Amino acid sequence: MLLPSPDPAPRAADTYRHRGQRRALVAALRERGIRDERVLAALGAVPRHLFFAPAFEAHAYQDKAFPIGEGQTISQPYTVAYQTELLAPAPHHRVLEVGTGSGYQCAVLLELTPHVSSIELNATLFDAAQRLLGALRPPGGAVPHLRCGDGSLGWPGRAPFDRILVTAGAPGLPPALLRQLAVGGQLVIPVGPAHAQRMVRVVREGPDAFAREDLAPFRFVPLLGAGGWPA
Ligand code: SAH
Repeated sequence: MLLPSPDPAPRAADTYRHRGQRRALVAALRERGIRDERVLAALGAVPRHLFFAPAFEAHAYQDKAFPIGEGQTISQPYTVAYQTELLAPAPHHRVLEVGTGSGYQCAVLLELTPHVSSIELNATLFDAAQRLLGALRPPGGAVPHLRCGDGSLGWPGRAPFDRILVTAGAPGLPPALLRQLAVGGQLVIPVGPAHAQRMVRVVREGPDAFAREDLAPFRFVPLLGAGGWPA
């Protein structure tokens, strides 16, 4: 007689081994210079392996970017930590992420503030991220506001934002994102052509005053849409 095969391990499993790998990843990020304990704790809390197809789970706790389909990538953990540290979201901040991708960065932001909105242009990635972020939500946990569309235009209905994080490389500063920044707010965005992107932080110091700092070099997939590169 054929016995039913045992249930495969549930997808939502976060095992002792995963937690150990995550602790090692956080130690490596600390070693590379990430200092903000809230950011390190957030990366330590989010089960990155659940954002990978099961076949590629073994890559989840390496400090590497990885393909997520549709020609896009989940950012390298160091990049997520660097951008999040620079953004410095406080628990009362309203945050907009442009480029939901896998949803991993969105989950990290949710560890830091319950007020997270995120926009993804690609409908296939949007659907997958929406399902995953819904399934990962702890009981009573914050719900991110997700939308499929052109995030280079921001989200006027939810603006102003205290923090805006762009996770794709832009040709310049998208004017709509500058307009939707609260006074005192900050935009973190990689800017420049594919091989010469720099992380840029813009602080809105007043209604018409923006201070720009150009920081470390990075390499991101292109931001498309009205405020991005032509498709
Ligand atoms: N934050 C993601 C990394 C995503 S890679 C993560 O944690 O996995 C960048 C993403 O930006 C891609 O999914 C790409 O489809 C998306 N993107 C590119 N241009 C966009 C636009 N104008 N609006 C919204 N998303 C965009």
